[in-house]
Amino acid sequence: MKLKDATLFRQAALVGGEWIEADPSNAIKVDNPATGEIIGLVPNLGAAETKKAIAAAEATQKEWAARTAKERSGILRRWFELMMENQDDLGRILTAEQGKPLAEAKGEIAYGASFIEWFAEEARRVYGDIIPGHQKDKRILVMKQPIGVVAAITPWNFPNAMITRKAGPAFAAGCAMVLKPASQTPFSAIAIAILAERAGLPKGLFSVITGSARAIGGEMTASPIVRKLTFTGSTEVGAELYKQSAPTIKKLGLELGGNAPFIVFDDADLDAAVEGALIAKFRNNGQTCVCANRLYVQDGVYDAFAEKLAKAVGTLKTGNGFDEGINLGPLIDEAALAKVEEHVADAVSKGGRVISGGHRHQLGGRFYEATVLADVTPAMAVAKEETFGPVAPLFRFKDEADVIVQANDTEFGLASYFYAKDLARVFRVAEALEYGMVGVNTGLISTAEAPFGGVKLSGLGREGSRYGIEEFTEIKYVCLGGV
Ligand code: ADP
Repeated sequence: MKLKDATLFRQAALVGGEWIEADPSNAIKVDNPATGEIIGLVPNLGAAETKKAIAAAEATQKEWAARTAKERSGILRRWFELMMENQDDLGRILTAEQGKPLAEAKGEIAYGASFIEWFAEEARRVYGDIIPGHQKDKRILVMKQPIGVVAAITPWNFPNAMITRKAGPAFAAGCAMVLKPASQTPFSAIAIAILAERAGLPKGLFSVITGSARAIGGEMTASPIVRKLTFTGSTEVGAELYKQSAPTIKKLGLELGGNAPFIVFDDADLDAAVEGALIAKFRNNGQTCVCANRLYVQDGVYDAFAEKLAKAVGTLKTGNGFDEGINLGPLIDEAALAKVEEHVADAVSKGGRVISGGHRHQLGGRFYEATVLADVTPAMAVAKEETFGPVAPLFRFKDEADVIVQANDTEFGLASYFYAKDLARVFRVAEALEYGMVGVNTGLISTAEAPFGGVKLSGLGREGSRYGIEEFTEIKYVCLGGV
């Protein structure tokens, strides 16, 4: 991997302000999913290092919180600028460990950095309230204070942005953070930490611990010092962490799985819907929790939409993310590839029709063809489970009431999308979808300005927007008597 600043690729973890280099006899190997080649090692750490990081976070957090909001804001702003100045290198590190095309990886760096920029601004706007008192001589003050030490656990699909949208609001609010990045993609996290040091974040405020998920997560959840756990990943692991956090009554932020419906009504602009479907379904090779998982198309436009989508998908180029003109990279690992294969085989065995792709890619390895399936029914696995890969299953529906029932028939509730023009329908459907987020006539909804999050098994809390910083504060009520 050629970098302008080679020091951004570091095979080490940051524990309480001290760097621990990877020891080859006890390290985690990180590979490039496009080639299987080992790109580097990170230390295999556990409970002891987590404890140390939590202690350092506790020691530093009070001093950080005592600074003016403007001072914290300035450091975050500098951190944002450093990320953008190093966008190329950070993008290269990301593609090498995650596989997404370089242009998309650089896009993620800009997106990830935008959370640091946004929360650098929000840091200065954490306002309290003064409420008229309940008695003549009393006044009610409400202040918002940082929650304290925060633990974060993040996934591999957005190795930069899933960290910044937690770290930005946490540091802006005056919290400290101990992070465990996904073992598949630790180098992006480490590079972010190097830039945080350069931006002037105090030593010990931010730790990045690589290693055993069970040991690190166990210590994070057991520790009474950690007041909040913020996690992005599977519902299964989220539920486990929820349980582990119960004895210490931690505040929780959980961004879990989704099973997003994407509905195309008869009155939709079909070309716009195809464009939206390409983004909502195939971004990051289908490996995002807001990816369209079930595409419902109304009877009258089903065949036309299927044809247009299959044609557009046929032009997508799959390959190594470092090559020119690539739209889709590999899947993250063999298990992900196997799941995609299973979902396609299951659909085909139950009457589904492949109208584009449908096989492992001729490149071999972890590559799978961009796929469109027609004649999909609720009996197929794709209807219930998140595929997390480049497969667009097309369901046919007759009327609005029916599609809403189908769209809501899932235990998840993260993102949803629909295309329609009739204004009354737009309101009705937006209100009826049981999801935390609804994209109307758009396939791209994530941005630092908006509250991202889900309902039902998709999680708790919101990230981004002005609501995102509230998640890292506690409300304190002060009753002022004798006034
Ligand atoms: P994904 O399907 O996105 O890989 P996971 O929920 O398995 O989602 O992983 C998301 C993050 O949670 C990763 O950083 C992973 O290492 C971590 N993780 C997995 N299992 C546990 C666990 N038992 N305790 C704490 N963290 C875990």
